[in-house]
Amino acid sequence: MCARYTCPVCGYEGLENAVFVNGEYLNTFEICTCCGFEFGFSEDHDVVHGFITIPESFLEVAFQLYRKKWIEEGIRLFDSKSIPENKKNKDSLKFDVLVDQLKALKLDVSNFDIKGFEKF
Ligand SMILES: [Zn+2]
Repeated sequence: MCARYTCPVCGYEGLENAVFVNGEYLNTFEICTCCGFEFGFSEDHDVVHGFITIPESFLEVAFQLYRKKWIEEGIRLFDSKSIPENKKNKDSLKFDVLVDQLKALKLDVSNFDIKGFEKF
């Protein structure tokens, strides 16, 4: 089995390259097949945060903004073909799979100000 790393945005275990090594953020330019986040690009270009390039200490903010937008837009899979059948509904991630992935990232889903998370 080849090494797979967990996406810090959506929690999907499908990255071929680690995003952080020894606490350092790597611009791998790998795109998560699940949420579509491109590491080294999306944090500066796919979310609106008021910086031209985001300070490294604000990375988590970019992840959160992207995650919120991705969830609210319907958790569409970036590359549906590469996601196992049991995790998806057509081209979207299953909601319960999403919740498990977010919990695996140790995110407090009860604290989410995102549509669909009211019941948590
Ligand atoms: Zn992801």
